[in-house]
Amino acid sequence: MSSVEGADTVVRRWLALALESISAHEDELGRLDAAAGDGDHGATMVRGLRAANAALSTATGSAGDLLSAAGGAFADAAGGASGALVGALLTTTGRTLGNGPYDTASVVKALQAALTMVMRLGRAQPGDKTLIDALKPFVDALAAQPADAPLSVAWRAALPAAMAGAEATQSMIARRGRSAKLGERSLGHPDPGAVSLVLLLQAADTVFATS
Ligand SMILES: [Mg+2]
Repeated sequence: MSSVEGADTVVRRWLALALESISAHEDELGRLDAAAGDGDHGATMVRGLRAANAALSTATGSAGDLLSAAGGAFADAAGGASGALVGALLTTTGRTLGNGPYDTASVVKALQAALTMVMRLGRAQPGDKTLIDALKPFVDALAAQPADAPLSVAWRAALPAAMAGAEATQSMIARRGRSAKLGERSLGHPDPGAVSLVLLLQAADTVFATS
């Protein structure tokens, strides 16, 4: 993150833009979820992000503190499996980052911790057609960037791996979550959680590029 504005401001701008982006895709995410689930993924994400933004309107502290607060509010408001997983992703990232530094090496470490937490909570592995199929390739690609690369540059270089990961979920059969019951009906549709994760990562990219 650049020195033009603080990392705390970057977190606030990211969550505001994430809400905007997910809201614009709410119906599409719902349709993807309806292919083999209950169709609520878009609404769940919007509800969680609204609560996260509301929590940040009164929260203070470092970027790590803000991410933790946002994750707690997200999980409480969003509910369900994806609420818990995305909430834990935010909270673990925030707690691991703490008071910084907020450079590429520490963000990699924080996201690796978050990935481990999400896999444990969701009891899911790569290939199970979950957000992990976008998150893990992204974290791996970010970790493969030079540790001294500016975060904005490393993040942008890693984004295609997340997009390819979400795309690849089309040919996977859901084994975790509610859609697992409908198994093969999920074939041919990407996992909505993987798609919404890519939207969150893209929103961060936009904020990094303009901060
Ligand atoms: Mg659902």
